[in-house]
Order: sequence, then structure tokens, then C-alpha cells
Amino acid sequence: MRESSYPLVSVEDALAGVLSRVAPMQVRELPLQEALGLVLAEDVHAALDLPSFRAAVVDGFALRAADGSAARRLVGEQMAGAPLDLDVDAGTAVRITTGAPVPPGADVVIKVELSDEESGWVTPHQGETLMAGQNIRPVGSDIAAGELVLRAGQMLGPAELGMLASLGRSHAPVHRRPLVGVFSTGDELADFGQVLGPGQIYDSNRATLLAAVAQAGGQPLDLGILRDQPGELERGLARGLAQADVLVTSGGVSMGELDLLKPLLERWGAVHFGRVRMKPGKPLTFATLPARGADGEIAAGQPARPVFALPGNPVSSLVTFQLFVRPAIRRMLGIGHAGLPFLEVTLGHSFRLDPERAEFHRVTLTREDGQIVARSTGSQASSRLLSAAGADGLLVLEQADGLLPAGSRRPVLLLNDNWLATPEDDRSG
Ligand code: AMP
Ligand code: MG
Repeated sequence: MRESSYPLVSVEDALAGVLSRVAPMQVRELPLQEALGLVLAEDVHAALDLPSFRAAVVDGFALRAADGSAARRLVGEQMAGAPLDLDVDAGTAVRITTGAPVPPGADVVIKVELSDEESGWVTPHQGETLMAGQNIRPVGSDIAAGELVLRAGQMLGPAELGMLASLGRSHAPVHRRPLVGVFSTGDELADFGQVLGPGQIYDSNRATLLAAVAQAGGQPLDLGILRDQPGELERGLARGLAQADVLVTSGGVSMGELDLLKPLLERWGAVHFGRVRMKPGKPLTFATLPARGADGEIAAGQPARPVFALPGNPVSSLVTFQLFVRPAIRRMLGIGHAGLPFLEVTLGHSFRLDPERAEFHRVTLTREDGQIVARSTGSQASSRLLSAAGADGLLVLEQADGLLPAGSRRPVLLLNDNWLATPEDDRSG
């Protein structure tokens, strides 16, 4: 057996090495609907007061508090969106709808159901006290002009996009989505739709990784399958370095005769680590390579491209993606803390620890008696994608001897948010 020349690095050191070598993408002004899930690159201050006029909070009548409980003569209607052309003088009132500007002179809006209207006169119900300012949103009461409303580094979700729209902005300055090229390597791989030859398997990693890229916020780019031949790998790699901001490959980084990727990455750039003390995923390799032009030649002046060469075993490639590529994509998106969503959970049964490597065990999560309980998805063989299909998270088990008893608390890296619903929640739908 051949021995790898790469030192085994810890998961923490490997992740720090990755994050120190990726940077937020360039800033673009994008239309709001294209900015969902992207990260603001600049602070946003309100360019106007919200509301920018005194606005009625209810449907009713705008009138003067000082007129007390007396009947008021109705002088007109003020609808939302209509220009202000009425005044409320002493002894008068204006019918008004929610969101309409309150006419000058009025200092209170009374709800329609707390008043009586008859033949052009409106009277507050007996005992209703009117206080100046009631049911009126003053100018700038939601947001004052100049106020800081969103900060650089904030991810834009529906509420943030709506916030920008309410200030009249059609575009947002965001870090652009990284284009993540994905290719598989291996002579045994067949593409979907092909008939399997002897010894062939379908390429599942590309489907997994392209989807994982999209889920992590990257823009996936399918670069196909490359055979285990030096020329083909070189051509494919050059193409990826010309097209994508980041490359994610799978296979070809173990110790076999045809594991040609690591030496190629060495020749073309810098390999920062080639083995990680983790299970699964030990052969994970991370390199940075100079960008290339469409002609395949090195493109000067462009930032180096991060290349993640993931192990070929389907589970290993998914787990290493989650632990290393996902945070890198988050950093490229401009998220300040590129950290991942970990949650402390309770073990539903005992787990055997590995004395040589930290383990990332695929688990399901359920809510039981106010606790979130993790259970293994079964055989954790790194070829068995079924251990990841249906998993809610990766349970982080430290490198140690022995057995971790049921009831212990450990962190889980969340893979989805399906577990948030309990079976009871489903019935109410
Ligand atoms: P390798 O790292 O290339 O030695 O691959 C390790 C194992 O993962 C082998 O059993 C491969 O057949 C399998 N494998 C590699 N690439 C893929 C892929 N794209 N889809 C499914 N299995 C793969
Ligand atoms: Mg291979």
C-alpha cells in the first residue's frame, strides 16, 4: 500500500485554511428579485420618512379631539392614495380609509365602529374619549429619513427586500453569487440515460453536489464527467478554471494508481492540505490555482481559484461539501460570520467513538418532550448514500475511545429544516 505524503490535518485547521483563502465576491447592483439570499455590501439609510405623511391607522373619521363628544358635520372623504384637498375645521369631520393621509386640522381618527353616522353628521359613541394623535401614524414614525435600516453583511430575505422596496429602491448592492463548477472523475462513471457497461456505476456525486451548491447559495455549473486520463483531466481543469469562480470535483484523490488529481493540482497551483482527520472524508484536498483564460493559458491579474477535490465515495463527498465548501460559499456570498448552523441535541442511543478521527454521523432529528433527539440513520459506510438520504444533520462526534451514552449532548450540523415540524404540526395543515 502506498503512503500519502500529506500530513493529516484537523478539521478545524483545514476549515481555517479554507476560509483564509476565500474572499467575498465582487459587488453588483441587482434587481431586488435577483437579490434574494444574497448579502448586502453597503449599509442602507432611509432616503425618506416612513410614513412620509400623517397616515390613518383605521377606517373611520378624521376629526378634532377638542370638539369632544359633539356631532361633526361630514365635509368629504379622504381615500388612501388620493391627494389631500380637504381641511378639518372645528365642528367638522372627514371620512377616511386606512393608510390615507390625515387632512390638516384633524388630530385624531376615530374608528367607524365607535361612531354613529346619520344624514351627513358623525357623532362619537357615548363615553369615547378622543386623544390627539390617536390612530394616526406621525411622519417618520416607522422609519425616520437618514436612519440606518439595513447593514452591510445582512442577508436579504423577503422582509429586507420589502424594506428596500418601501424606500423606493429597485436594486440592491450585493456580493454576486459565486459560480461553482462541478465535475466528477472516474473511468467507471456513466451519465444518466446511459446503459451501464460492466463495472460501471451512475455518477451520483454530480447530482448531489450541484444541488448542494445551489442549496448553499452558489450558482452551480455542470462540467460533466472526466476520465482518469492526464490529458482529459488537464483539459477539464483548465476549462473549469476559465469558467467558474470555484471548482468542486469528486473522486481521484485516494491512493490508487489512477488518482491523478492531487499531482495535477500540485503542478498547477498550491495544495494547502491533502488529508483531513475526519470520518468520512479523509482524502479531502484543497488547493488554489491561478485562473485561466478561454485559451487555457493562465489569466494574469485574476484572483486564484479555490479548488475542492472531494473524495469519490458519495457520502464522503457530501459530508466534506457540507463542512468545507458550504462555509466557503457563505464567505464568498459576503456573510460576515461564515459559520454553519449547529444545534446542541440529545443522543437517542449510544454512539461508538472513533479513536483516530472525528466523525460526522448522519442522524435524523425528532422532538421529544421538549428535547431534540438524534438517532443514527444506520450503516455509515461511506458508499451508502442511503445514510445521508433522509438525514436531518451531521452529528459531530469527537475523536476518542469508547462509547458515548444515550442522553449525551452533542452538536449537529443541520442539513435541512424539515425536523422543525412535529408530526402533530402536519395534522393541523
Ligand atoms: P475514488 O476517490 O475515485 O477512488 O472513488 C472512491 C469510490 O467512490 C469508488 O468506489 C468510486 O467508484 C466511487 N465514486 C467516485 N466518483 C463517484 C461518483 N461521481 N458517483 C458515485 N460514486 C463515485
Ligand atoms: Mg476514481
